[in-house]
Amino acid sequence: MEKQFGFYLMDIDEFANWLAAEHVSRVINLIQNHHTFLPDYTHFTGSNHFARLKSMRDYHMVNNGWSNIAQTLTTFPDGKVAVCRPFNDVPVGIKGHNSKGICIEHFGNFDLGKDQMLPAHRNTILKLNALLCRKFNLAVDAEHIVYHHWYDLNNGLRLNGKGSTKSCPGTAFFGGNKVEDAEAGFIPLIKKEMLVLGAQTPAPDVVVEVKPATAEIGIVTATSLNVRKGPGTAFAIAASLSAGANVNIYESVNGWLRISDKSEWLSERYVIKARKARVTAESLNIRSGPASGFSTLGSLAKDTSVLVYETRNGWSRIDINEKWVSSQYLS
Ligand SMILES: [Zn+2]
Repeated sequence: MEKQFGFYLMDIDEFANWLAAEHVSRVINLIQNHHTFLPDYTHFTGSNHFARLKSMRDYHMVNNGWSNIAQTLTTFPDGKVAVCRPFNDVPVGIKGHNSKGICIEHFGNFDLGKDQMLPAHRNTILKLNALLCRKFNLAVDAEHIVYHHWYDLNNGLRLNGKGSTKSCPGTAFFGGNKVEDAEAGFIPLIKKEMLVLGAQTPAPDVVVEVKPATAEIGIVTATSLNVRKGPGTAFAIAASLSAGANVNIYESVNGWLRISDKSEWLSERYVIKARKARVTAESLNIRSGPASGFSTLGSLAKDTSVLVYETRNGWSRIDINEKWVSSQYLS
C-alpha cells in the first residue's frame, strides 16, 4: 500500500484486506458506480495515480466548493484502487442518495467509442463491487449496485434513465448504462465474484451446495436479527441485520433461510418474504383491495420495481398494507 496526499493506493487484494479490517459505522446500502469521464485513459501514464487524484480533489474543492474529493473510491486502468475519502464520510455521488452510499469513480470515459476498459481494470471493478456487497451484506442486484444514469440530476428521483441524466458510468460500461444492461452484463459477473470470495473465506461450519438465489427476497422485521453460520440458534453468529434489510433467499430449511452462497442463515420468523416484479403498463393503478371495484390510491409508472407479498385472483399485494395492482401488468 502506498500513501500520498492523504490517499491510499493499493491493488485489489490489498484492498480486500484493508476493507476487512475497516470499521464502518455508517449504514451502507447503495454502491454507486461512476466514470470520471475527464480525466480519461489518455491522462493516465501508469504511474501518476496520486497526481491525478490530487488534481481531482483540487477541482472538487476549488471549483465545486466541496470539503473534499467527491468519491469514496477510485479505480484505475491498471487495476489499482484508491481510498479517497473515509468510509464514514458521506460522499458526493448521486443527488439525494449519498447518506447510505459508497461512491466509486472508475477512471476513464466509458461512453461508446471512447476508452476500451483494460482487463485489469475490469477485474478490479467487479471484485470491488463484490467485496463491498459482502462487507455491507447487500443483495447483489440493481437496487444496491447502481449507476448515476438511473437518477434524475435535478430532483434525484430514480427514473431509470428517463429525465435529465448523465450517461455516467458510460454508454458502453459493461455493455451499456441501462438497468437491463446492468442486470445482463454487470450484476451476474459480480455474483460470480461473490462465489469466488465465498470459496476463499475459511471453511464454513456447514458446507452448502452453491445454487442460485430463488426469485424471492426477504425483508427483516426484527430490530436486530442475527445471521448465523448454520440453520439453528446453536450456530455461531456471523453478523446482524437491522429492520428493513433486504436479503436474497437461496433456500429454506426447518424455519431457517439461507441468504447467501455461503452458510449464512436467518430465522424465518423475523422475515417477510416477497417476490420482485416490475411494472409493464405505462401507468398502473394501485387499489385498496384485490379487484377493480376498490378505490384507487395512486398509480405506478412503467418499469417501477415493486415487491409482491401476496397474490389473489390475479391481483398482487405490493405493500405490507392493503395496496394491490393487477398481476397482468407485472413482469
Ligand atoms: Zn457520475
